[in-house]
This record gives sequence, C-alpha cells and structure tokens, in this order.
Amino acid sequence: MPPFDVPEGDPFGPHNLPYGVFSLPGSDRRSVGVRLGDHVLDAGAAAVELGSPYAALLARPSLNPLLAAGRTAWSDVRRALTAWVTVPAHREAVAPLLHPLSEVTLHLPFEVADYVDFYASENHARNVGRIFRPDAEDSLTPNWKHLPIGYHGRSGTVVVSGTDVVRPSGQRKAPADPAPVFGPSVRLDIEAEVGFVVGAPSTMGTPVPLGGFRDHVFGLCLLNDWSARDLQAWEYVPLGPFLGKSFATSVSAWITPLDALDDALVAPPGRTHPLLPYLDDASEEPGGYDLRISVAVNGHVISEPPFSTMYWTAAQQLAHMTVNGASLRTGDLYGSGTVSGASENQRGSLLELTWNGRDTLELPDGKRTFLEDGDVVTLTAWAPGPDGTRVGLGEVTGRVVAGA
Ligand code: CA
Repeated sequence: MPPFDVPEGDPFGPHNLPYGVFSLPGSDRRSVGVRLGDHVLDAGAAAVELGSPYAALLARPSLNPLLAAGRTAWSDVRRALTAWVTVPAHREAVAPLLHPLSEVTLHLPFEVADYVDFYASENHARNVGRIFRPDAEDSLTPNWKHLPIGYHGRSGTVVVSGTDVVRPSGQRKAPADPAPVFGPSVRLDIEAEVGFVVGAPSTMGTPVPLGGFRDHVFGLCLLNDWSARDLQAWEYVPLGPFLGKSFATSVSAWITPLDALDDALVAPPGRTHPLLPYLDDASEEPGGYDLRISVAVNGHVISEPPFSTMYWTAAQQLAHMTVNGASLRTGDLYGSGTVSGASENQRGSLLELTWNGRDTLELPDGKRTFLEDGDVVTLTAWAPGPDGTRVGLGEVTGRVVAGA
C-alpha cells in the first residue's frame, strides 16, 4: 500500500499536498491543513509534535505566514511534509493528526490582499467579441495580442468554495429599452478560471520580471468569477467591470503549490505577434499549465475547458501587473480570465455556451440559458503529475440563492 493508506492513483496522494485551513467540529480554532487523500493533516500540530522548525509557519490560523516566507521556505516545508506523510517512522506521531475531510470545516485559506482578474484566453476573447461586437472587423480588440488585459476586482468578496452566492440586484438596460430598470440579475453566469496566489511581496517601484514568477507566486487554485451579464453590459463602458462582478468570487479551499505542478508545465500557444521585451517569454521556461478543468451544473458536466490553451501565461500577467512599479502583497490573488478551448464543449461561461442566451443548454433537470436560483456550479480539475499520476485541484462549488 502507498503511504498512510492513500489508494494508489489518488489525485490527492503524497505527490500533491495542497494547503488549506480547517477547523474541527465544535471549535473556532483554525489550523493550517494539508490534504492527503480524503483526510486533512493538521500540519501545525504535526510540526509541533515533531519539533519542526516550521511550526512558526504552520501552527497558524491562515496560510499568510507561510506565503510570506518565500520560495526557499516553501520548498523546505513541502519536503518536510512529504517526509511526515511517507516515512514510516513518523506514522505514529502523524496518524492521530489526520482528520476525515467529511468531519472538518474548510475556510478561506489566506487573507486576500488585492484581487486582479485577467482575460487571457484567445478563444474566450474572440467569442465575447463576436457576441458583443458582431460588426467589428476583428473579434479581438487592437491591444489584445500586445498586453494581458486585466482589471482590479474586489478582494473583500472572495469567498471559499461551498459559500452560497446571493443573486445580485442592479441596474440593467437592453439597447432597445427606453430607460434602465432595477432588480435581480436575469443573466447570472459563471466564469471558469484559475487563480494564482502571491506569496512573497515585491517593492513598490521595482517591476517583477518574467523570471521572478516562481519567487513570488506560491500556488494556484480554481476560481469562479460569478458574473451578472445584464448588469455588466449596462455599466462597463468606459471603465470596465464593476458591480456585475464584485458581488462574489469563489475560490477553492485548497491551494496547490506550484512545486506540485512541475509535470504540468507546457509551452503556451504559438505567439502570433512580437512581444515587448518585458513580456517576451520565448527564451523562458514553459509558462503554461496543463490543467484539465470540468464545469458542472447540478452535477451535470457542461464543459471541459483546457487551461493549456491560454495565450497569456501567469508569469506574463505578473510581469505586466508590476511593470509600472505597482508592488505585490502577500495574499494578492489574480485570476487567469475565463478558460475557453477551441471547441463548443470547452467554453468556460454560459455566455459563450448559450451564445448570450440565443441557445439553450439541456440539463437533466431542464433547459438553461443562465443560472436559476438553486443551481449548484462546481469546477474541478486535474493536471499531469509525476510518474503518470494525476494532481487533483480542490473543487470550487457554489449554490445560487435568491436575493433578500
Ligand atoms: Ca473573469
């Protein structure tokens, strides 16, 4: 048997070890945990029990101290954790600190500092262009191939997987309507994305180059950028997304360290335009990640977006986000943008899947264009791991509930 009775081939085996924060029943005490199969290891308690020097980073109520500690500490802690869950000599000490996932409460694992969202899928950007600017000569805006487009979102409404999402209300006005009306969104959508979590901060005034990505970014997670398309359509010109997005962004309870994803690194799609030097990754290590995402509504898979198709990499996004001298803070989160592949069943939003409500999706429980109250949206994903294994990403799920 593999170490600690994790079934062979489990995507959450000792090759993965994503980090989260949990509490036990009847307790308010939050602890850093590491997922192993269908259990969570109380990593802080293990560090204390084993007299580890990393207890100061792990015996904490959030991941922030570990995130702030930087690349060398991340690698050292991961090496220690791997030993704790695989070396038989540690079994007696560690086994009592493994709790069934079904018995714990998972919390937002880090304090989100700034939240930025990008727009890095060419397929998604072209689909959106065709839907909203059907008469334009090019479905991409003129800047799209020259810089990773992004905007600053609302960090205070980033919520952990499992949190209900209240249908937002706001203004909407279709082009033919004489005046705007106020009410619950009638075009509530999802965006299947990957979120990158910044650990080590940077200095204001000093850009982070492409090669600094692994020194600053700790890991990644699945992210659902809930979007009210009707609110968004009326408000977004000229300053971009605002209330149509800021009501909720869901992230997984588990942050997968980049160190677990070395076998998933892939080259991004071929570049069609020359890039300015600070974004030119031709001579860099491959910056794409081969993550196979699945989107389900009420348990029914509606799409399987491939992250490997993203035109802009997370390293390019980080370089662009800091090239003006803006600094990074521990806990900064940036979303990749909606992940959409080339084919229809790889689109990461209902906007694209139903072509802005023109078409309907057939679900076992009825037709959909956009989300109805009670719908549960769940994103899952896996990536190639070492020796033919799979690295599972923690799911992100959320249920739509009616507004008050
Ligand atoms: Ca988005």
